[in-house]
Amino acid sequence: MAAATKDAVLASAVDLAREAAQEVADRPELVGEHLGLVVEGERLVTHRFATTAPGYRGWHWAVTVARVPRGRTASVCEVHLLPGDDALLGPAWVPWAERLRPGDLGPGDVLPYLADDERLDQGYEATGDVDADELAIVELGLGRERVLSPLGRSEAAQRWYAGSHGPMAPQALAASAPCSTCGFLVLMAGSLRTEFGVCANEWSPDDGRVVSMDHGCGAHSQTDVVPGPSDWPDAPPSDDLDLELVRLVDEHRAGDEAAREEPAAEVDQPAEEQPADEQPTDVPPLDEPADEQPADEQPVDEQPTADAPDEPGSAPAEG
Ligand code: SF4
Repeated sequence: MAAATKDAVLASAVDLAREAAQEVADRPELVGEHLGLVVEGERLVTHRFATTAPGYRGWHWAVTVARVPRGRTASVCEVHLLPGDDALLGPAWVPWAERLRPGDLGPGDVLPYLADDERLDQGYEATGDVDADELAIVELGLGRERVLSPLGRSEAAQRWYAGSHGPMAPQALAASAPCSTCGFLVLMAGSLRTEFGVCANEWSPDDGRVVSMDHGCGAHSQTDVVPGPSDWPDAPPSDDLDLELVRLVDEHRAGDEAAREEPAAEVDQPAEEQPADEQPTDVPPLDEPADEQPADEQPVDEQPTADAPDEPGSAPAEG
């Protein structure tokens, strides 16, 4: 396709284009000098004018004019205020649902329904069974279409704990006692009960807010109360028998482990190769016959065998 040539009729229609821009600008002085023209196509030209409008640095008026074939009169197609290369621009447009941040919601604002909100799980739906529905909806309070998911619960807990109602808040660091011991703390329901409650003290800066158990403030219910003596003894009672038993068990285990770790060949070693510290110091050597058994432990009625040497003083064997 051949490039469009500059149209003499349209190129000379500068005054017509300026008048169109001034009409749109509403004030003639907002349309500045002529910046040139752009051939858009066959019998189609855009004239550009500077703008003097405050806050529109780098912008320009673009007035597009055209004519019919063999026509001698230009017609205005459209008028725009367009940004140039160095124009001052606003930030890129972001959908409001993505632009909205926590805390932006004001009175009367309504958030859109999110069908796939991962912070929520399916709640209990009525089954038609009167007894089951009574129990679930009335007694357990599950009669809601969606309830908090584990993710939603976890995110809320982290947010609350790390926020201005957690243990690191300035009033919590300065407090002498935590909320967990305060009479104004109303415990929450469910699994969050172990970590959070609601402050119900109108004198507290946290009145009506969720506070962590280790949060605190100067309006604690026990402020200035001298702590009483503990019901627990100063030192925990000790049982010597139990302590001794623990030591013996440990030694016994250590002995078992040493025996297991000893190589099999060392098990058959003679008694004299055993470590000296495992032998009683007063035990005689095994090869000393006389002292090996006390005399009074010899059996009194033991008869000598036929090939045994005669004892001095005994009767000769019968032939
Ligand atoms: S009064 Fe203070 S210490 Fe007591 S629950 Fe409220 S914030 Fe916690």
